[in-house]
Amino acid sequence: MDAKQLQSLKASNEQLAGFIVRLTNFYEGLSPDIDAELGRLRGHLSGNVDFTLAKVSINKINQLFMLEPTNLKNLTQQWLRQLDNDIKEFQRHIEDAELTKKALGVATSLSKPVSSVGQLLPLYEKLIKCYQAGLLSAAKPGAANNGGANSKTVQLKQDLIEELSHLLQTYSRINPDDALIASLRDRIDEELTEEELLSSCLLLIRIMVQETVTEASTAGKIIHRLNNALGNINGDVTSSISKSVESFEARQVRQKSLRSVLEDMEDALENEQNIDQLKEQAQHYLGQLANSLSAGEEADRVEQEGLMTLLVSMQQQLSSLQKQTDSYRKKLVEQRVNMYTDPLTKVPNRMAYNDRAGKEWQKCQQLKQPMSIAVIDVDHFKRINDQYGHAAGDKTLQAIARYLKSRLHANEFLARWGGEEFILLIPDLTSSQLPERLDELRIGLAQLPFKFKQERLTVTVSIGGTECRTGEQLDAAFERADKCLYQAKAGGRNLVVVQESA
Ligand code: GH3
Ligand code: MG
Ligand code: MG
Repeated sequence: MDAKQLQSLKASNEQLAGFIVRLTNFYEGLSPDIDAELGRLRGHLSGNVDFTLAKVSINKINQLFMLEPTNLKNLTQQWLRQLDNDIKEFQRHIEDAELTKKALGVATSLSKPVSSVGQLLPLYEKLIKCYQAGLLSAAKPGAANNGGANSKTVQLKQDLIEELSHLLQTYSRINPDDALIASLRDRIDEELTEEELLSSCLLLIRIMVQETVTEASTAGKIIHRLNNALGNINGDVTSSISKSVESFEARQVRQKSLRSVLEDMEDALENEQNIDQLKEQAQHYLGQLANSLSAGEEADRVEQEGLMTLLVSMQQQLSSLQKQTDSYRKKLVEQRVNMYTDPLTKVPNRMAYNDRAGKEWQKCQQLKQPMSIAVIDVDHFKRINDQYGHAAGDKTLQAIARYLKSRLHANEFLARWGGEEFILLIPDLTSSQLPERLDELRIGLAQLPFKFKQERLTVTVSIGGTECRTGEQLDAAFERADKCLYQAKAGGRNLVVVQESA
């Protein structure tokens, strides 16, 4: 009987251990320290379950959880400090009181406490660099009168407009109904002065900082909720263990009293001679036995019910945790996809290219394979915008991207470089094979049927391409391809120009 009880105690504890082990999977990947301790916890809870060590482990994990948001917070603040320095740096170059004030405004919003992940931070950095460049050139004395500096300022302004509209597109995909963003988009479609442009950049930075703060607090909340849930489970397990011990002791007491009733009965049977008295005695003891047994049954039932309630509540906690974590994970994945996809054409954006290109080139070099790179630019695209409107221009870009995407080979990588330019990476292709491949795409695109305002139209592209040279930086190859593109434009457009390898 003892062994059986211990067996059932062991079985229910093993069941609890199984639940905790399943639960630990949700916490994987937060930090290496937490992962290591989770591994240890799982060790304590499998095979020979050791709740004492498990409890130590759970406490350690709880402590690590408390530390984790602080680490994230520190990291984020480090980023923000860096941006803050950037702002201060260019504040020194500005004399315009109005702009200095505005920059100070950004610095102030950056110094507010932020507790966690800032996935949009690289964007701020970029934006601030733009802002910095723009301000520096605007602050250059006599910039407007000096011919060279003037064309440089115009180029900078053009770059700023492109960067800003690109960022706005990315951002408006995440928040399509944001009225501020919509008004900013309208504004950059109009002619803007440098100052208006810079103040638009500033406004966007503010919105993005706000976004990060909100995003950070969602992440913080989730971690906090998960942490609480683990704390609850820990409490439930501890109380279930102490209840099991109590009921084990109660059983032992009941058994002892049963044993003594039986002993009394034996004595009575041995000593009692009178049959009626014996009967009476027997009935008395049987009554005691029945009471004791039903008390035992009742205690078992209560214990079983308690265990069931505990298991059901744990299961509920588990499935609610699963839902929370799933939706959080989905949100993170979505954000990642948004960050790396150009919202208009749905092909990878420049950030995705920057992420991918270096790795691709490194891989080709390791495999001793060639790699080619090409820049594709739509011919006279501005005319489409001017004659048929911006929306027609947008549709053209979408159709071109769709066509290129549909013709890509499995190992090729296409990204929107910005404006009406695309960039193509072609691993395992030499410069002598490159003209044929690029002509295929150019000819295919020229045959796409376009119709604007009832007019049939041909849209063509010019392409510059080159093979990357072993040991060189990818930027150098890009520059070469860009020069080829320039030659293709100069040569009359709707052309492919490739520079043979040196
Ligand atoms: P070229 O043949 O020399 O390349 O001439 P182009 O007109 O194509 O080149 P240019 O650089 O003069 O003009 C590109 C235009 O593309 C200017 C810009 O307003 C427009 N543009 C950039 N991004 C977008 C966009 O996302 N949508 C639309 N509709 N137009 C864009
Ligand atoms: Mg262009
Ligand atoms: Mg063009």
